[in-house]
Amino acid sequence: MTTKEFSNQLEFTNDGKLSFFFLGAGNAFQKTYFQSNLLVVKGESHVLVDCGTLCPYILEKEYNAKLSKIKNLVLTHPHADHIGGMEELALSAYYISKHPVNIVIPKIFKKKLWNESLKGGIQYSENGKMTFNDYFSELPIKKIQTKPFEMFEANIGSINLKLFRTRHITTRATSFKDSQLSYGIIFDDRILFTGDTQYNPEQINFLLEHFPKIEHIFHDCDVSGYSVGVHASYEQLKLFPQEVRAKMSLYHYNKKMQEVSPEKDGFSGFVQRGVYYEF
Ligand SMILES: [Zn+2]
Repeated sequence: MTTKEFSNQLEFTNDGKLSFFFLGAGNAFQKTYFQSNLLVVKGESHVLVDCGTLCPYILEKEYNAKLSKIKNLVLTHPHADHIGGMEELALSAYYISKHPVNIVIPKIFKKKLWNESLKGGIQYSENGKMTFNDYFSELPIKKIQTKPFEMFEANIGSINLKLFRTRHITTRATSFKDSQLSYGIIFDDRILFTGDTQYNPEQINFLLEHFPKIEHIFHDCDVSGYSVGVHASYEQLKLFPQEVRAKMSLYHYNKKMQEVSPEKDGFSGFVQRGVYYEF
C-alpha cells in the first residue's frame, strides 16, 4: 500500500492502481470526520461506497466534485450516515446528469431501501409516479454463497466486488436473521472493507482463509467502546493476531481516536480522510 495526497480535484480515473479515497472516516455522530463514505477507483472505473447525509456536502466543499459525477454506487446498509445523501444523489441523476446511477444492490436490499427509506421523498415527480429504477440502474449481481453467510458478486467496469452479509444491528446476538441488512465488500479479492459490523473474528478468519490474496483490511472501529454489539471496538480488534492487525486500517471512529496509538498496538493505523490509499 502506498498513499498519495489529494491535490485539488478528486480523481475519478487513475493509472490502474486500486485506490481508496475516504471522503470521511468518522462515525455517525462526529461532524468533523464526515462519516464513512469512500470513492474506489481503478483505471477508468469508479464506485462510490455509501452516500451518507454529509457526503454531497463534503464531496463538493472539500474535494471539488459534484454529486452528478458519481456514475456507480454500492451501499453497505441503510443507516443515514451511509444512505442519507441518496435522495439528493437520485435527484441529481434525474434532473442534472439525466442518467440513472448504476448501482450494485441485492434484490432484497433494493426493495427495503425503496419502501422503507427513499420512497417517502422521491416517489412523486412532475412526470408522474416514480420507481427505484427511474433513478438507479441495477448492475448484474449474482449470489455466490449462502453459508455461513450470504455473498454476492458483481463487477463495475474493471472492479470486482464481493458483498458479504455482516452482523451490525441484531436483535438476537448471534443471528443474521432478524437483523438489519448490512454488507461488507471485498474488492478484487485483495482489499477487505467491513462496512459497519460487530466484532466478528469468525467471519474475518473465514474470509482471510477463502481469499488468501487479501492484503489489506479497512475495519469499522468504535474507539470509545460505547457501541459494542453494534460496532467492533478498538479493544476487541486488539484481540486479532499480530499478522492480521498489521494489515488493518481502522475507520468509523470518533474523537477518542486521539487517545490511542494504533501503530503501537500493531495496527496499520487509522484511516485518514482525503488521502488516496493505493494498491
Ligand atoms: Zn451503521
